[in-house]
Amino acid sequence: MKTIRLREGKEKSLLRRHPWIFESAIARGGGDAGETVRVEAADGRFLAWAAFSPASRIRARAWSFDEGQRIDAAFLRERLARAIAARERLPIASDALRLVHGEADGLPGLVVDRYGDTLVAQFGAAGSERWKQPLADALLDLTGLDRLYERSDASVRGLEGLPEATGWLRGGGPTGLTITEHGWRLTLDVATGHKTGYYLDQRDSRRLFADTVARLGSRRVLNCYSYTGGFTVAALAGMRAAGVRDGRVTSVDSSGPALARVQAHVALNGFDPAGSDCLDADVNATLRRFAAEGRRFDAIVLDPPKFAPTAAHAERAARAYKDINRLALGLLEPGGVLFTYSCSGGIAPDLFHKIVAGAGIDAGVDGYIVQRTGAAPDHPMTICFPEGEYLKGLVVMRKT
Ligand code: SAH
Repeated sequence: MKTIRLREGKEKSLLRRHPWIFESAIARGGGDAGETVRVEAADGRFLAWAAFSPASRIRARAWSFDEGQRIDAAFLRERLARAIAARERLPIASDALRLVHGEADGLPGLVVDRYGDTLVAQFGAAGSERWKQPLADALLDLTGLDRLYERSDASVRGLEGLPEATGWLRGGGPTGLTITEHGWRLTLDVATGHKTGYYLDQRDSRRLFADTVARLGSRRVLNCYSYTGGFTVAALAGMRAAGVRDGRVTSVDSSGPALARVQAHVALNGFDPAGSDCLDADVNATLRRFAAEGRRFDAIVLDPPKFAPTAAHAERAARAYKDINRLALGLLEPGGVLFTYSCSGGIAPDLFHKIVAGAGIDAGVDGYIVQRTGAAPDHPMTICFPEGEYLKGLVVMRKT
């Protein structure tokens, strides 16, 4: 059995059950890609069993802090079973959900989403990659499903020295699927969609948006970075619930294929296509143009892509976030609402709050922070792994 010995004092985070062991913490030892190694403190004390990642700055990820635990297929199956069982105790109003959320579920480097009868997995670290086949078998067995698609094409694979891998791991058939979220019908393609096909983490925010649009009777809605229009459908559902007939949602995204789905989703859910505009354009430029044209909106969503993948990008990203938030706040009608998000792990919640506050000051707009939101509960945060908190949202209502 291989061992890695940590430098003096570098055991602290593992004693707090944080699962990452950085390259700089290791005094000596190693293993093959994904191999289970024994992690010891400088004095030889057992700390964890971990999967070794020779190419990554995160050189090992802990599987277990229990010295008596054997890391084998049965252990992984048990972890999967617990993650899946936990979802049954969470409020999830969809047949599409995240079953396994990596470190938060004690399965570092593994993401598994379920879209109806189809599973999609992302193997994002050397450890989960090494155990891919037993994990795939256990997933099918535990869910009773027979289709598992692999989407190991995220940029983290590069950091782990792993090549991209996509395609059916088990079963096969069409990759285009339809899911039902809050009763809304949405389509996606697990082979070509973003992430594993859809942004499941914003599920509860879309519900909140629909309810807010309904409560306020919003008529002019702007959905920036719309992707396939989840928030667009939410807004139209909110308008319908409120009996608003002349409402209009403008969706902006730089992806043509995503916008094609927006229009398809409007029709699929029985909304009048005349109530939905799609703009294949850059959001920042569009917000500036709307400002110049004097357009105003009652409700705006700003859900940009990850501007800061790590803390090292935070400063530039902060400027970009501030810019779009300033522009959006300027387009908001008094009494209107802005739903603004950051999914950058490198931007902490308090920093995001400050960025939005700064944007308000620059725009000359004050607002009530009505709510702070995070990812849906099937993308859990845990006490030992604060890095799990990546998605932050603020609901700001402009003062009248
Ligand atoms: N709100 C969406 C998810 C948004 S993901 C949902 O609920 O499903 C971010 C989106 O931003 C992607 O669809 C991407 O195509 C788009 N995007 C990235 N950069 C952009 C830019 N500069 N202008 C417009 N859209 C952009």
